[in-house]
Amino acid sequence: MARIFVIANQKGGVGKTTTTVNLSAALARHGQRTLLVDLDPQGNATMGSGIDKRALTRSVYHVLIGLSDVEEASVTSPTGGYDVLPANRDLAGAEVELVEFEERETRLKDALAQVESRYDIILIDCPPSLSLLTLNGFCAAHGVIIPMQCEYFALEGLSDLVNTIKRVYANFNTNLQVIGLLRVMFDPRIMLAQQVSAQLEQHFGAKVFRTVIPRNVRLAEAPSHGKPGVVYDPGSRGAKAYMAFGAELIERIDTLFTR
Ligand code: ADP
Ligand code: MG
Repeated sequence: MARIFVIANQKGGVGKTTTTVNLSAALARHGQRTLLVDLDPQGNATMGSGIDKRALTRSVYHVLIGLSDVEEASVTSPTGGYDVLPANRDLAGAEVELVEFEERETRLKDALAQVESRYDIILIDCPPSLSLLTLNGFCAAHGVIIPMQCEYFALEGLSDLVNTIKRVYANFNTNLQVIGLLRVMFDPRIMLAQQVSAQLEQHFGAKVFRTVIPRNVRLAEAPSHGKPGVVYDPGSRGAKAYMAFGAELIERIDTLFTR
């Protein structure tokens, strides 16, 4: 049965999509059958996986409103070796249309149940902010992976997110747990980054992943080539870090869940 993780942080530009795409590619390279669910109407994870969001006839939008099943709407990333349930601007309308449905927050969860035997791991890329789309991601997941930059307001933002996760746990999904905090875009030359990183380890202990993702320009260049960074330049520091993170996540899953 697939383990389902949502990559979440209510801030934009913190590396959610970069993490989802590169972790998917890393997991595929580690032999895991992986599905990436793009839950952001911007479709950045879709494009970064080498899939043209403008050419889609079916997408996660159709799945959420019941016009398609997951298998029909999924595409294999030609560059990443994982499957993608893609998104584009159509998804922006789903927020309004979903309000018509009963149990509107579990639409994604119910849909993914159709494919859970076909994958080892399903990763969900969320939009910033706690919308109904993000809530669908939280309700579908067994755990949350939180990418964060080690900067001044990071810890404050983190407590908001942890409170949100607690509310979702209490009201909708008692499977939900924080799998871990991932330090991203890390620059060790910045003193503040080192301080925040040390604070994170102090407060959250083993919840902080060992692997640290460095700031690396190759990761930022890769999406314009329609490739995950781990495929675009496997020798780069960013790619190696995401490969190591994939291995660490597999290890952590084995300790947290019985498969
Ligand atoms: P989010 O999905 O949280 O909005 P993104 O993954 O889109 O964030 O990242 C925001 C920007 O930062 C993008 O331009 C991306 O290419 C860049 N970026 C993300 N991670 C890194 C990294 N480790 N090194 C360099 N640039 C990065
Ligand atoms: Mg994003």
